[in-house]
Amino acid sequence: MPRLVMKFGGTSVADLARIRGAAEKVRREVERGYDVAVVVSAMAGKTNELVGWVRDTSMLYDAREYDAVVASGENVTAGLMSLTLQEMGVPARSWQGWQVPLRTNSTHGAARIESIDTARLVQKFGEGLHAVIAGFQGISPEGRITTLGRGGSDTSAVAFAAALEAERCDIYTDVDGVYTTDPRITKKAQKLARVSYEEMLELAGAGAKVLQTRSVELAMRYKVPLQVLSSFSDEPGTLVCDEEDIMESRVVSGIAFTRDEARVTVSGVQDRPGIAAGIFGPLSEAGVNVDMIVQNVSADGKTDMTFTVPADDISRATRALEAARQNAGLGFAKIETNDDVAKVSIVGVGMRSHSGVAHRMFAALAAEGVNIKAITTSEIKVSVLIDRKYLELAVQALHDAFDLDKAG
Ligand code: ADP
Ligand code: ASP
Ligand code: MG
Repeated sequence: MPRLVMKFGGTSVADLARIRGAAEKVRREVERGYDVAVVVSAMAGKTNELVGWVRDTSMLYDAREYDAVVASGENVTAGLMSLTLQEMGVPARSWQGWQVPLRTNSTHGAARIESIDTARLVQKFGEGLHAVIAGFQGISPEGRITTLGRGGSDTSAVAFAAALEAERCDIYTDVDGVYTTDPRITKKAQKLARVSYEEMLELAGAGAKVLQTRSVELAMRYKVPLQVLSSFSDEPGTLVCDEEDIMESRVVSGIAFTRDEARVTVSGVQDRPGIAAGIFGPLSEAGVNVDMIVQNVSADGKTDMTFTVPADDISRATRALEAARQNAGLGFAKIETNDDVAKVSIVGVGMRSHSGVAHRMFAALAAEGVNIKAITTSEIKVSVLIDRKYLELAVQALHDAFDLDKAG
């Protein structure tokens, strides 16, 4: 029988009534003749609560115990969803990550999937039992529970779709598709009927949390047809697919943003070969993810280096640089940090063939008096760092400038 993966996010399983609503959608697909693997998230707010409990218990917590605690949210939903399906007459069995097993590496809190053994799931499909799988979790080579990073149930779902050679992976969420930008920020946002894997990858990486970045990477690599749609309506959703399968050509398809960037400026740095390695080496060893980098013009042999890191990483970054100054002779005058910044990105495959896109972006921001503090570009993306207080204004202005209200 053809197989289908259906993933339900936190808001979609927030209470028992919503779990019933989701189960109803599963029943419909079962009646269409699919063997279904349902992947569930923790009930809305649960993972945040669990993370809070860990942090309140232990400031420098053991990441293995963090995973033991935060993975539990999904276990509850999996059991409840399985019971709900059974009550509806749909034979189902719940599976935690280790029971499948879904094997990962040992990077607790951000583990990567290494393999999924589908033999037992497939055997149960053969017995007429549909699967309800706790998303977000797996088992390490040491036999400990791991989690895949926030938003990781999307990645579980795509990985199961690939491993089970499912016909499709449907991601049910609280919006009815991928929009030109987060619909919470502007009412003008339009639902896209289709978006390419490449664009979705860039949008997710730039902060559009509707899909976890890694899930898009996997879908692209294994050619999993991915659909984003609403748990609360029967509206058609968005298909994430190959660029060739998209007819309409758009220069810019979407705008993504992150509010949780922080800017770090290291000033009075010796301007000599090796200095960038001297700064970014210790940061990478400390596990700090550096994004945008700007080096100022030097004066008197000294320069300033400005870069962005996730706001949560500010103190780790500062500590790593101070340690390099003490122990590795890294010379600089001072470190300044500022977390009142945000990053806004425009994404579109049309940038490959159209020139002047970045200029249009900068002009639209200038017209609103928004100052740009740093810029980075890739083949299909331009990102700018701005003061956080201008975030909404900037997104609106760019949405208008690229006529995204006419997209869809
Ligand atoms: P789930 O709990 O179902 O995984 P998430 O909260 O992780 O849901 O993701 C859905 C949210 O993503 C939406 O409520 C929306 O606010 C946000 N979002 C950000 N960018 C976009 C976009 N371009 N299109 C649709 N939703 C977006
Ligand atoms: N429950 C996890 C989280 O909130 C995983 C997910 O929902 O995708 O991050
Ligand atoms: Mg999510």
